[in-house]
Amino acid sequence: MFSTRALFIFIVVTGVFLLFFNALARPPSRTGNMAKPSGLPPVFPDKIRCIEIASPYGSQTRYDGSRRPKFRFGGYHGGIDLSLTEGTPLLAIASGTVVKKGEGEQMEGNFLWLRHAPEDTGFSYWVYSKYQHLQSLPELQIGAKVIVGQVVAYSGKTGTTGGHYGTNGYPHLHLSTLKSLHDEYQTKGSNMLVPDSYLIDPLMIYHEANSKLKESVDTPSGKKTITIPCMTTDGHFWPPGMRVVWPVACQPR
Ligand SMILES: [Zn+2]
Repeated sequence: MFSTRALFIFIVVTGVFLLFFNALARPPSRTGNMAKPSGLPPVFPDKIRCIEIASPYGSQTRYDGSRRPKFRFGGYHGGIDLSLTEGTPLLAIASGTVVKKGEGEQMEGNFLWLRHAPEDTGFSYWVYSKYQHLQSLPELQIGAKVIVGQVVAYSGKTGTTGGHYGTNGYPHLHLSTLKSLHDEYQTKGSNMLVPDSYLIDPLMIYHEANSKLKESVDTPSGKKTITIPCMTTDGHFWPPGMRVVWPVACQPR
């Protein structure tokens, strides 16, 4: 016959076992498995006007200062938000392949996943980028190749109406980036299941791209910043030769 003590031990062991396997089974992009924010302020090139970040990666607040709900990544922002008028062309942040698109749920909207190989970026790892709240489902087919700076979708507010933002919604781009050493992936709903992958601050992608060109800038105070490489609306890249760009074209002044 079970003693109370044996029963107690059984329950605890079973509980720990279930927790452990539940953690293993959860898709990486839902676990809150994310790297720290870069902590470095982004700066844009002189003589160019760009859309700046409305809510940075890792932020516990939305662009309007309200608190993010705890049930997504523990209340921390898993990407960056750019406030945009609907229908703004969105650019491939690097060359790559379309790996997934769809109509997401509330808070997600229409989405697009691109996969960027090391030869696309010059990095030693694979990058998976996700664009959310798109105006419509992108026309690009799964498997289509895209080149850096190519228009891949248009911004919208899908998935933002009816909740915190009310009936008007919040037109913006939410961009998140997953870092992985693997090219194999599976998708589950709108999630990308990639072994050993984790969310990184998209600014780190730009930081890495800069360091490849040795263009990292020191401000007079000695504090590091991240200079954002971008494409201008007239089709020029800054700095020239950059293989990674801001997801929205910037205006030459
Ligand atoms: Zn966001």
